[in-house]
Amino acid sequence: MAESFIPVSTPRLDGNEKRYLAECIDTGWISSEGPFVRRFEEGFARSVDRASGVAVCNGTAALEVAVQALGLGPGDEVILPSFTIISCVGAILRAGATPVAAESDPRTWNMDVTSLEALVTDRTRAIMVVHTYGLPVDMDPVLDLARRRGLFIIEDAAEAHGLTYKGRPCGSFGDMSCFSFYPNKLITTGEGGMVLADDPTLAERARSLRNLCFQPQQRFVHEELGSNFRMTNLQAAVGLAQLERREEFLAQKRAVGARYQELLAGLPGVRLPVAKTDTAENAYWVFGLVLEPEHPLDAPAAMAGLAERGIGTRPFFFPMHEQPVLRRLGLFAGQNLPVAEMLARRGFYIPCSVGLGEAELQRVAEACRAVLGG
Ligand SMILES: *Cc1c(COP(=O)(O)O)cnc(C)c1O
Repeated sequence: MAESFIPVSTPRLDGNEKRYLAECIDTGWISSEGPFVRRFEEGFARSVDRASGVAVCNGTAALEVAVQALGLGPGDEVILPSFTIISCVGAILRAGATPVAAESDPRTWNMDVTSLEALVTDRTRAIMVVHTYGLPVDMDPVLDLARRRGLFIIEDAAEAHGLTYKGRPCGSFGDMSCFSFYPNKLITTGEGGMVLADDPTLAERARSLRNLCFQPQQRFVHEELGSNFRMTNLQAAVGLAQLERREEFLAQKRAVGARYQELLAGLPGVRLPVAKTDTAENAYWVFGLVLEPEHPLDAPAAMAGLAERGIGTRPFFFPMHEQPVLRRLGLFAGQNLPVAEMLARRGFYIPCSVGLGEAELQRVAEACRAVLGG
């Protein structure tokens, strides 16, 4: 065990990051007023075919801004996958709206879109889709349902940088779409996020909500409550440098994913990610493993075994309908979503950084074979 530890994810910052950061320091522009913010917003929006991007301080804030910009509030229901990060539910609850949890698809680990129609009531106002772990949600049925029932779509594309569904970029589907630039995401700003929209009114609302709803004419007179969710010029400088390398990073992730598919093929009782669906090619934001019911280990035991061999892992999400804090609020009472519950207990992911070399991939694969058998 003298070999070095392989973390699940490490960012690459060896492009223009230093040069652009130096420009911030040299010019004194370090706040959100600096010029990199607009450049990053415009470049990023263009890269996902959106008219406007509004940079914010993290992906969680992006979701909060999106929900509020759409005017969702008390009495409104928002359908979302139970198998997601708490940021999604938090954004809905902070607006005073009610989250409604949907089941997962055991094959793609995304929201089971066939289960949505039954969850729609006359209070439903929006569907929050979350592209999970590198595959997109099956958008056509969601778009169709939203059109028929007059629902907004909020798209959480935090894990879907560079991913496409039927050739169209993830992040281009929602009335409002959100990204995160946390360092484990494909491109990073340290902390950061973005809200995107085509509708100029929604984009303007998002811009105002992230900036305390200051008014242009009477700055310190407020008609609405906003937050300070601004992104700094320093973060945007890093983001712009990262954006320049997005396709390169994506290709490297896909190479890592493809190599794992070869190295880990045939592990008994271990389900690997789906490489390709009818609508998408996996972007391998992470490389997840799910232990089938017949496998003797559960995720915590497998992860402990890999940790002993110097391999970093992370557990899958823990579903929203089982969260103690949400149950205490009286949400999701008595709800069972067996697929989401199974994924939480049987799933975890292994190192999948951009630029992992062949020797490291082999080490991870050998450790997986030793721990998981086969
Ligand atoms: C990372 C992530 C977020 C939250 O982003 P932060 O920048 O960490 O706040 C939201 N949704 C999904 C699906 C994520 O993966």
